[in-house]
Amino acid sequence: MSSPATVTQGRPRIKLEDSVQYLKGIGPEKAKVLNSVGIKTIEDLLYYIPRRYLDRSTILPMNKLKVGSTVTVIGRVEAFGMAKTRRPQFQVILKDNTGFIRLVWFSKLRWVKNLFEEDDLVVASGQITLYRGLQMVHPEFEIVSKSDRKGNDEELIHTGRIIPLYPSTAELKKIHLDSRGLRRALKPLLDNLTNLVSETLPQRIVSDSNLLPLSKALKNVHFPEDLEMTDLARSRLAFDELFYLELMLALRKKRIHREKGIAFQKPGNLVRSALKMLPFELTEAQKKVLREIASDMMSEDSMHRLLQGDVGSGKTIVALVAMLMAVESGYQAALMAPTEILAEQHYITIHQMLESLGVKTVLLTSSVVGTEREIILDQIAKGTAGVMLGTHALIQKKVDFFKLGLVVIDEQHRFGVMQRAKLKQKGISPDVLVMTATPIPRSLALTLYGDLDVSVIDRLPPGRKTIKTFLYNENLKSEIYEFLENQLQKGHQAYIVYPLVEESEKADLKAATQSYEFLKKEIFPHRRLALLHGRIKSKERESIMQAFRDGDYDILVATTVVEVGVDVHNATVMVIEHAERFGLSQLHQLRGRIGRGEDQSFCLLVANPPLSEEAQKRLKAMTSITDGFKISEIDLKLRGPGEFFGTRQHGLPELKIADIVADAKLLYQARNWAFKIIEEDPNLTQKNNLCIRSNFIRKYKRRFSLVDIG
Ligand code: ADP
Ligand code: MG
Repeated sequence: MSSPATVTQGRPRIKLEDSVQYLKGIGPEKAKVLNSVGIKTIEDLLYYIPRRYLDRSTILPMNKLKVGSTVTVIGRVEAFGMAKTRRPQFQVILKDNTGFIRLVWFSKLRWVKNLFEEDDLVVASGQITLYRGLQMVHPEFEIVSKSDRKGNDEELIHTGRIIPLYPSTAELKKIHLDSRGLRRALKPLLDNLTNLVSETLPQRIVSDSNLLPLSKALKNVHFPEDLEMTDLARSRLAFDELFYLELMLALRKKRIHREKGIAFQKPGNLVRSALKMLPFELTEAQKKVLREIASDMMSEDSMHRLLQGDVGSGKTIVALVAMLMAVESGYQAALMAPTEILAEQHYITIHQMLESLGVKTVLLTSSVVGTEREIILDQIAKGTAGVMLGTHALIQKKVDFFKLGLVVIDEQHRFGVMQRAKLKQKGISPDVLVMTATPIPRSLALTLYGDLDVSVIDRLPPGRKTIKTFLYNENLKSEIYEFLENQLQKGHQAYIVYPLVEESEKADLKAATQSYEFLKKEIFPHRRLALLHGRIKSKERESIMQAFRDGDYDILVATTVVEVGVDVHNATVMVIEHAERFGLSQLHQLRGRIGRGEDQSFCLLVANPPLSEEAQKRLKAMTSITDGFKISEIDLKLRGPGEFFGTRQHGLPELKIADIVADAKLLYQARNWAFKIIEEDPNLTQKNNLCIRSNFIRKYKRRFSLVDIG
């Protein structure tokens, strides 16, 4: 913890880095609670911005309230207390000069009971219901001013036309740091802003992008002059955050480009023979991205490129060609996948072709053990293995590469920046190609992969028919089975997929297994069914997949292990059970397992009501949209960036104010500026940029580790 204050001119002066506990009226106890919501320093508090604002002009008078509508009211507490009802409830009667309404609580009674006093001015939002008069149950509320302070000047800061509402937890409210308390703590800081903060952006950015100066933004975000100013203020702070994030990415990219990489040779005979072996021609889209990759690889600078493309667009072959280019120049190439199954899939798809070209290919996952592992590690270390496929196992300490030249990371949304860096450290600065499983929205790509160059395969291979997707209700199972049988009779194969999530893995596994038994005995006794899930040993899994590929099974009942990598052209039907439990990108990824051949494919989503509103939106998107880029945009909007990547570590920097979905335009602006400035002045030593330099070092360097400025 930093020292309480520096003394200037005989007066202690508070600094941004100081702990909030030194603020008047806070102290160590309250500071502890503030810490728990991420407010540790004065600066954190300054940047703890209102969740929303109430404009007095949008508040409805009590005599205009309609049952069923969701509204905001403001009034004085007329009476309050526990009601003598069968179920204990606490009530507050709120009154304005047109009428009154009853606020009702059934829970958190002990807490809510002690909050109100007669004559308190209270804002409440919620839905109006009717029960012996108008009422609002569990409203969102805020005590705008306390009765005993009425008329006091200070209260004016709380009762201006615009009322900011902060994200406040019950804990914060308990220690009187509700919105009112937070504003009270903030007021002296904001009155003294010029001593506390200095502008973080050069004047030319501020004026060119029509931004508010920092201190004006901070003032208005907390004590807005009017509603329009709240938007401008928040935008300015969001811009700041995005600008410094992009600045970090620009610096990182610059640094990567400065690194001396490998200048691989032009693609030669090996690549040519490989392309000849393919049963198809590369599409123009594939050729275009390969040119971009080859040009990177041939240059002395090291490659750091993101390869995007929809499911089924043919990324694997692109990666394969890149790996062969490395091998042809005398280097090893590694492909790292997020799951064992996917690594195995890649191995199955790739190794025969590679071996027939004379390139030794090995698979390294944690299932590879004992002598087999020893042999493979030895081949990697001696350089007899040219191409290595695997999982995290590839980046463990024990793995020693002979001459690693290229790393392909099949990202599947799961690898973080750190893992990328870790594998890179193993080689002599190998080139890096990152592939995404499904497309990532542009705004997200620019924040998460903003330091990479991007190649996009924007067309699917020719001859694909658009997959038809239908939504079924649970109780229409027999129709689904009929449909399935019909397809099987035409000689096609099918997937039936069950959800499996970590939290309920046991139950999910049981459900999938039971359904498999049931289908096998009762519905499709004349068909060949197989069951596939992550708990099955990898050798067995491989043989099941191989058999399905060879057409020895008609139906593959599986958990989400088939999500990625499986490639069986004859499979034309996919039934997804409990489709409402899957995320949108995941559904799209699953559906990508069919429609890979030339026959019409069908995806049947089976939903079990009741469906949440969000689930309905997801399923509707699935039935109407097939473009993965569009799907991912919707997914990002529905879930937000954190969820979009799942719970695993994803390397996504935390943004406190900016929202990359809503602030996408700001993001593009901020990015342009950040990259332009680093291009012009990589060490940020020009006079105009000194404010960036000092702010970056002070605030962001630690947060965005791995970055140096000269
Ligand atoms: P993804 O981009 O999802 O990883 P894959 O690399 O698995 O896609 O390719 C999907 C399918 O398309 C594979 O069966 C692959 O052999 C096939 N494929 C790839 N490129 C072409 C092409 N140019 N023409 C025809 N089929 C192709
Ligand atoms: Mg793939």
